[in-house]
Amino acid sequence: MHFDYSEKVKSLQRTLLEFMDEVVYPNEKTYEEQLQQAGSRWTVPSVMEEMKEQARRAGLWNLFLPDEEYGAGLTNLEYAPLCEIMGRSLIAPEVFNCSAPDTGNMEVLVRYGTREQKDKWLLPLLDGKIRSCFSMTEPDVASSDATNIEATIEREGEEYVVTGRKWWSSGAGDPRCKVAIVMGKTDPGAPRHEQQSMILVPMDAPGVRVRRMLPVFGYDHAPHGHAEIEYDRVRVPADSMLWEAGKGFAIAQGRLGPGRIHHCMRLIGAAERALEQLCKRVRRRTAFGKTLARQGVVQEWIAASRIEIEQARLLTLKAAYMMDTVGNKAAKAEIAMIKVVAPNMALRVLDRAIQALGAAGVSEDFPLASHWANARTLRLADGPDEVHQAAIAKLELRKYDDK
Ligand SMILES: Cc1cc2nc3c(=O)[nH]c(=O)nc-3n(C[C@H](O)[C@H](O)[C@H](O)COP(=O)(O)OP(=O)(O)OC[C@H]3O[C@@H](n4cnc5c(N)ncnc54)[C@H](O)[C@@H]3O)c2cc1C
Repeated sequence: MHFDYSEKVKSLQRTLLEFMDEVVYPNEKTYEEQLQQAGSRWTVPSVMEEMKEQARRAGLWNLFLPDEEYGAGLTNLEYAPLCEIMGRSLIAPEVFNCSAPDTGNMEVLVRYGTREQKDKWLLPLLDGKIRSCFSMTEPDVASSDATNIEATIEREGEEYVVTGRKWWSSGAGDPRCKVAIVMGKTDPGAPRHEQQSMILVPMDAPGVRVRRMLPVFGYDHAPHGHAEIEYDRVRVPADSMLWEAGKGFAIAQGRLGPGRIHHCMRLIGAAERALEQLCKRVRRRTAFGKTLARQGVVQEWIAASRIEIEQARLLTLKAAYMMDTVGNKAAKAEIAMIKVVAPNMALRVLDRAIQALGAAGVSEDFPLASHWANARTLRLADGPDEVHQAAIAKLELRKYDDK
């Protein structure tokens, strides 16, 4: 067993870290200021496009995609430490064209898209020219069980008609969001996991209406955002279907594996940055005659945080290794485990950092509060903790079927 990264990965890590220091961190405030100054928050700050161009020139582009034809051709294990670095800033993943939900959508298009679908949607996504959203969750049903989805996709001649109400479609607030992957039922009479399909819907198709944007603890996450969208008898050509009718569930499983582990990698980066900010601060601040760093309780927070980050990283790397070697399906226990571990770990580390920074910790002068809000959503998004725990327990119990 090797615990070292390859030379290729180490070199990319160095370039990425330098890029974060020189380009991303200094522009975090500029990004927010440009959003504030624009008439509407649902516009793209010009600094984002500038940073994207710089990242592309630096060869830090589409690193998430293992596919060699379309992406950087890195394995999940190679990408993990790079994605972790991107997770240190909430604006960074987009800079490198590695942000959700576009990454998951691009993987779906690479795996299941036809030549025409790839030309129309994948290439501009890979180029960072357009963005996309993923519409699965619905307000009216418990969507953690995707078999509950009620939206319909009905065949009428050479078209499909998409009808349903979705919410939490992330990324739909962005004016560059041009396409949604929508999950709905094509055949309610089919076996439970073959009723659903996924279909490509242009955001400007008649009948697509963004009803409202949903804030997260007051953060609007503009211009990306999370939308409630009505699909009102939206007509799309029959060749907009992904893979084939009835494969929606199978695609969802494949899509969510890489997406989940990417979230975990980024959360480790967020936790690392929080611990770094905690340590720097407590060394500087003195209360009751000694630096905060010399308080036993603060040292306990630091030690617990370091231990938990290391544990989470190792499990993430193991899950990534399994995905590379035995495939996403066989790695499902490890993916489920890390999907529970990483957000909870990040929340604990972030909370300690917030406490150690005092009131500054909950302000927007530091990224801790916004990272905490983001991490909290990841105990729900891409499957709530309890659903993953149930899956882990099921797999564990199955080992004793014959015993
Ligand atoms: C910020 C954010 C972004 C999101 N982005 C997207 C997106 O881009 N596209 C998209 O389609 N969706 C997105 N979602 C939605 C997310 O995936 C769903 O919220 C999630 O799958 C849970 O579905 P639900 O909200 O309907 O909760 P429900 O299914 O109603 O579940 C509610 C709670 O019930 C409990 N529960 C459920 N099942 C079990 C079980 N088996 N055992 C024990 N307890 C259980 C859990 O505690 C769960 O949190 C996003 C959500 C957030 C918060």
